[in-house]
Amino acid sequence: MDDLQLLVDLHLEAHRQGPGGDAETRRAIELSGLRKGHGLQIADVGCGTGASTLVLARELDAEIIAIDFLPEFLTVLEERAIQAGVADRITTVKASMDSLPVTVGTLDAIWSEGAIYNIGFEKGVQHWRQFLKPDGILAVSELTWLTDSRPAELELHWRSEYAEVDTASSKMAVLERSGYTPLGYFVLPEQCWLDAYYHPMKERFAAFLQAHDSSDSAKAIVAAEEREMDLYRQYRLYLGYGYYIARKSRDEP
Ligand code: SAH
Repeated sequence: MDDLQLLVDLHLEAHRQGPGGDAETRRAIELSGLRKGHGLQIADVGCGTGASTLVLARELDAEIIAIDFLPEFLTVLEERAIQAGVADRITTVKASMDSLPVTVGTLDAIWSEGAIYNIGFEKGVQHWRQFLKPDGILAVSELTWLTDSRPAELELHWRSEYAEVDTASSKMAVLERSGYTPLGYFVLPEQCWLDAYYHPMKERFAAFLQAHDSSDSAKAIVAAEEREMDLYRQYRLYLGYGYYIARKSRDEP
C-alpha cells in the first residue's frame, strides 16, 4: 500500500482531516456576511469527509459543491450528508484544486479549511478568484506564524514542510495583491488542534498500525504525526491556523 493510501486509511474515520471546529466555521460564516444570501452557490475545496461542508449546508441557504481529489473521502461525506438530512444541497465532485471544474464567475463563495497548502496559498487564492462572482467571498484556513519571530527548531521544521508558512500580515498582503479585500481574520483556538484533530488521531494509531502489520511505512506515518503533535504542544504560542475571510475586489490584480 502506498503512502497516500495509508494516509487515507488513517484519516478516513476522522470527523476532520485537519484542525478546525464547527463553531469556527460558523464564526467565519458570520464574518463573511453570507447569511443574508439566498440560493447561494458555494464550493468547499479540499473538503475531506466534509466537516465544514455540513456546517455550510446547515447554516446557509446554499447549494454546496464539495470538491476533493480522494473519492474515499467523498463517499464518507455523502453518507454523512444523508444522515444530517442535507444531501439534497450537496454535490460531491472528484477533482484537483488546481483546476476547479467550475464555470468562471458563478460562485458566491469558496470555502477551504486546512487544504489550500496542498497547492500553496498564493497559487490557490489566485487560481480560485476567477470562479467567484463580483464581490464573492473567499474563506480559507492556513498555517500561520503567530509572532514576528520564533524558535529555530519550529521554523526549520515547517519551512521544510510548507515553504509558504508566514505571518497573518503577509497572508493579508497576498490576498490584497491577488485582488481581494480582507474582511476578517481569527486564529483557531487550541481545542481545534488538540480535541478536534490530534487526540482523536492518536486514538487511531494502535488500530492503524495493527491493520498494516506495523509496516515501516505505517510506522513512519505515525512517527511523523507524533512529531508534528509534539511540535504543536511545545510551540503553540508561535504557530496556529489563521482563518482568513476576504471579498473579491472589483479591481483586477
Ligand atoms: N477540509 C477538510 C480536509 C482537510 S485535509 C477538513 O478540514 O477536515 C486536506 C484535504 O485536501 C484532504 O481531504 C485531501 O484529500 C485534499 N487534497 C489534497 N490535495 C488536493 C488536491 N490537489 N486537489 C483536491 N483535494 C486535495
